Parts: sequence; C-alpha cells; structure tokens
Amino acid sequence: MSLDSKVPSGPLELKWQKHKDNIKPISPANKRKYKILVVGTGLAGGSAAATLGELGFDVEVFTYHDSARRAHSVAAQGGINAAKNYQNDGDSVWRLFIDTIKGGDYRAREANTYRLAELSGNIIDQATAQGVPFAREYGGYLDNRSFGGALVSRTFYARGQTGQQLLLGVYSGLSRQVGAGHVKLHSRQEMLDLIVIDGIARGIVVRDLTNGKIESFIGDAVILATGGYANVFFLSTLALHCNATAIWRAYKKGAYFANPCFTQIHPTCIPQHGEYQSKLTLMSESLRNDGRVWVPKNPGETRPPDQIPEEDRDYFLERLYPSYGNLSPRDIASRAAKRMCDEGRGVGKSRQAVYLDFSDALNRLGRKVIDDRYGNLFEMYERIVDENPYKVPMMIYPAPHYTMGGLWVDYNLMNNIPGLFVLGEANFSDHGANRLGASALMQGLADGYFIIPYTINAYLSNGKPPAVPLDHPEIKKAESDVKERINKLISINGKETPTSLHRKLGKVMWNYVGMGRNEQGLKFAINQIQEIRDEFWHNLKIVGNDSYVNPVIEKALRVADFMELAELIALDALERDESCGAHFREEHQTPEGEALRDDEHFAHVAAWEYNGDNKPIRHKEELNYEFVQLATRSYK
Ligand SMILES: Cc1cc2nc3c(=O)[nH]c(=O)nc-3n(C[C@H](O)[C@H](O)[C@H](O)COP(=O)(O)OP(=O)(O)OC[C@H]3O[C@@H](n4cnc5c(N)ncnc54)[C@H](O)[C@@H]3O)c2cc1C
Repeated sequence: MSLDSKVPSGPLELKWQKHKDNIKPISPANKRKYKILVVGTGLAGGSAAATLGELGFDVEVFTYHDSARRAHSVAAQGGINAAKNYQNDGDSVWRLFIDTIKGGDYRAREANTYRLAELSGNIIDQATAQGVPFAREYGGYLDNRSFGGALVSRTFYARGQTGQQLLLGVYSGLSRQVGAGHVKLHSRQEMLDLIVIDGIARGIVVRDLTNGKIESFIGDAVILATGGYANVFFLSTLALHCNATAIWRAYKKGAYFANPCFTQIHPTCIPQHGEYQSKLTLMSESLRNDGRVWVPKNPGETRPPDQIPEEDRDYFLERLYPSYGNLSPRDIASRAAKRMCDEGRGVGKSRQAVYLDFSDALNRLGRKVIDDRYGNLFEMYERIVDENPYKVPMMIYPAPHYTMGGLWVDYNLMNNIPGLFVLGEANFSDHGANRLGASALMQGLADGYFIIPYTINAYLSNGKPPAVPLDHPEIKKAESDVKERINKLISINGKETPTSLHRKLGKVMWNYVGMGRNEQGLKFAINQIQEIRDEFWHNLKIVGNDSYVNPVIEKALRVADFMELAELIALDALERDESCGAHFREEHQTPEGEALRDDEHFAHVAAWEYNGDNKPIRHKEELNYEFVQLATRSYK
C-alpha cells in the first residue's frame, strides 16, 4: 500500500500557507458541537487541548498523572530552538530546516521539517507572551545558546528548566480553558485502548488508576500526544512511567507505526551506577556549549583527571569533528564516546564513561557565569554522583533518551486511521533518523499550538461523524478486552515482578538493539525478546488486586506492551539494512566508523501494519527530496 503524505504541491516556502488557505474552517458557532479527545498533557497534548478549547471545541483531555503539570515535558532541560536570528549570526528558517534535515540524516519529510522551522519563531512569541521566563541578555533581549548540529546560536532557554517553564505556560492556558468550561481534564486516567468504529477513530477506553474502573469516552476525533517509548530500554533518561501503551494499542487497532527502530542515544548522561538502578539522568546537551569532552590518550590510564596533563588528553570530538567539536550531533557524539571506551580509554570505575570538563570555561568565564547558565544542572550532578563538577570533571556516558519513531502521520498529523491524530514525540515526527537537541520542544509545541488547530478542521469540516451509542458492540468489545488482559495478568501468579522482567528486556535491547546493531545480534535479540515475553506471560507476579491504586498492575500493563514493541523495533532495525543517523548497522560504516546510508534502497519511511500476532507488514512512504540534495553528512 502506498501511503499518502498529503504534502501540498508548490514551493516549499508556500506549502503551509497554501494548505491552510485551502482548509475549510468550521463556524465558531458550530465548533462546540465537536468533541475532541486528547490523550496527554505534555507540551504537545497540553498546548493542543488549550488551543482547541480556546477555539471553542468541546475538549476532554486525559493524563495518567495526578496533575497535568507532571507530564514528562517538565523534565526538559536545555532549551528550545527557533530561527529568530537574535544573535545576528546568520540564522534563518532555511538554515534551521537544513540543519534539521541533515541532522536527521535525510530520513525526514522535507515539507514537515520546513514547516517546523517556519513555525519556530511563533512558539517563542507565544511562550514569551504567556510569561515564560526565558533567559535574557543585559539589554533585555532573549538570550540564546548553541546546541548540537548547528553552527549558529538559536536555542532559547530558561536555565536548565526550559521544559518546566514552557509547561507552566501551557498549563496556564489549559487551566484557563478548564475554568471556562471548554476543556474537561481527567487526571489519573490511563488510556488502554483505542475504539475504532467503521474504520474511524471514535474513542478511547481508560482505566481509573485510583479504583480500577474501566470506562469509554467517545468523540469526533482522537488526539494522542502520549510521548516517547525509550523506556523500552528499561534504563533511559525518561521519567519512570513513560510508556508506549497508547500508541501500541492504536497500532494493534490498525494505526501504522513508522520507523520504530529510530531511537536516540544521548551522549551526556550520568553513567549507570549499579544493577538495581531504575533510571538514568540526563546532563543537558547545553553543557557541551562550555564543557569539553575528553578521555586519556593512554588505554588503562589510572591517574585522576587533574593529574593527567594536556598532552595526555584526547579531546576526541574536537579532534574528529573540528567544525562542530563538542557540539557534534548526538548520534555522532554518542558513537564516538562508545568507540573511546571500547578502545579501553573510558574513565571511572566501570571504564564506561568520558569526561565533560569545565575547567577551561571556569577559567575563562568565572564561576558566576557558569553558575547562571547551568547552576541547577551542576547541583543535580553533585547530588547524584557526590562529586563537585566545579572542581572535578563530570563523567558522562550515552543513554537512551528519545524516540524519533512513532505512529505514522500525514502532513495534517493524521494517522492512516481517519480521525486519529498524533502529536509530539508520539508521532514519527520531523526528525528523521536523529533528532537535534532542543528540537523536541519545538516540535511538540508547533504540533499543538500551530498545526493541529488548522488541520483538524480539514477532517471535521467534512461532516460530523455519526453518533455512537455507548453500548455499541465495538465499545463493549474494547472494554472487555481490556478487562480480560488485566485479569489474565493478575491470574498468572508467577514469581517475577514486572520490573525484573522489564530490566531483562532492557538489557537485550541495549546490548543488541542499542548504539550498534548487526544482523546476527538483531536476530538473536528477536529470539531473546520472544523468550522473555513468554516468561512474562507465564511467570509474572502481581501483588494485590485491581480495585485500588496498584502501581504493579499499571507497570505490568505497560511492560506487556513494551514486550511486543521491542520485537517490532528489532525487526525494523533488521530490515533497514543501512546505517542512518542513530540507527547504526555495524555492517554499513565508512573506514572512519561513520554511518553509511543506502539512499537507493532506504530513502523511505518504514510504516508497519499490525497483522495479527504473526508477521507485521512493512509499507513504505518514499521520501522525495525536491528541495534538498541528499549528501553524506559531515561535521568535520
Ligand atoms: C531528561 C530530558 C531532557 C530533555 N530536554 C529537552 C530539551 O532541553 N529540549 C528539547 O527540545 N527536548 C528535550 N527533551 C525531549 C522532550 O522533553 C520530549 O520529547 C517532549 O517533552 C515530549 O513531549 P510530549 O508532549 O510529546 O510528551 P510528554 O511530555 O511525555 O507527555 C505525555 C503525556 O501523555 C500522558 N500519557 C501517556 N500515555 C498515556 C496513556 N496511556 N493514558 C493517559 N495519558 C497518557 C502522560 O500522562 C503525559 O501527560 C528532553 C527529554 C528528556 C528525557
């Protein structure tokens, strides 16, 4: 089946405007007659719900958190990109577009990525108007810093808490609409299935996490903005509860899942400290503005960092990629760090770490400046590692962080299931095979504030879908399937906790489907995943029952879906027999160890269709590059 991306024709710069002009609006008097269900209150879902409410739609928004403000977006640290060119350093919409397309190793849709760059400036205006306290220069202008994969400074930031501040802005807009009665907020409600009637997305089944009650909600459109799935690796920088259930359940109802193997490993995380650790902590990429990454030149070096003289240090990113240096993109920097450790030049007890050193910057800029820029990050590092990064270099190592893959969407952000829209990290997005830093917040807010408020009209203005009674057989079936799954999990009564089986799965994913992948390893991983999944369904232990707050049931349901998604990720990685961006197939590399793309066979999006529990079907959306020439990515 060929997938229609619905990208409008015409010049790149005019596509979005032309598209908007051709979308039939819905009369303000009629908007309240349309019910829109939004799942997720992060930057993507929260901004969508607030904006659609402001437009007059009847919106219901769901989150499994106790407060909309706890969405994982709150954790974003470093910043958000926008092509404002406040620094007068040559930035432009075109440059942001090119950096993003190149950063994604030419595996993103041109028109979407251009629109993202085009809308970036609006986001900053919107957030500033809401009072988001972006850092400012002494003259009052908003300040910028640099992020990986760019030679200009275009990242707006609020210390190391940019996500939190942006989310407070979103939340104030959302609360206003809740107060006005346009948005109904359901917290502690977890979506466990999508309801599809006559081929159209019509609703969701949710579980009340406080008492286990299963209930269905029906609307005229469903928006999923449920975040990323990097917790499939068990250890990641994501919040502990982030999961794939909403998009995975939609996949099993027929929604295509695009590029599941495009998972990003972030180079600057605090290394794992022990076997029973439950998550990893990111040290923001912004730190690479002033921190220098190095390892000792000699394998097996035992001297402490302050006793290793300059001539015995290898600032490997500056050496290998002189143009971008420490601000090389994440996939490139992660792989370089791994190579150093594989050569025996890693540092720390495990030798699985590299230094991120601020001594030069502290000498040059002084402690006050470094403190203003990164104070909370330094404090966080010290609390976790018990070392003072003002005195001793930080130690960092790559860790799973973001997922470029997600549900397939067209230019309208609608999935192949009509009426199902997917926003933010949950869709397969605009980042191709590798996302550049500070561009996820940009995408989530572009989707929610500026794209969906237009494109949902294109769908709804075709006519209101027919009313659906709550006792419709599809609804009853979806509800009983959910109940049956929960009962099945409880009745296994084995010996292993969901966490221990998740940890087991994560190890396989990290070792064979992580930073480096090869055919043999991927085939082995698929076997292992099947075995662990089998163990899960035969040896899981759930304590307690389903009628009150029971985090073990919540976790088990999420892990059950990871057990299936993991196999699709590995299969997608196996079928994509090339290296591109964060997807590094060891068989395909240059003599210098860089990713070697195969544009002839793989310049496409792989969109997977669920096909029973046997073999999923791989569809292709060809990526036609009209405006950009495919080139070998170089940051040298
Ligand atoms: C530590 C860290 C730092 C980061 N820093 C940056 C940065 O500086 N700049 C940048 O651009 N990006 C950054 N990112 C990436 C960025 O934070 C995320 O990609 C982005 O915030 C995702 O937003 P979202 O709205 O798509 O999803 P989320 O913020 O994850 O929100 C998901 C929402 O969906 C809800 N939900 C999920 N599943 C269900 C379900 N089944 N039922 C009900 N509700 C559900 C959740 O409750 C939540 O409300 C960072 C990521 C991490 C991990």
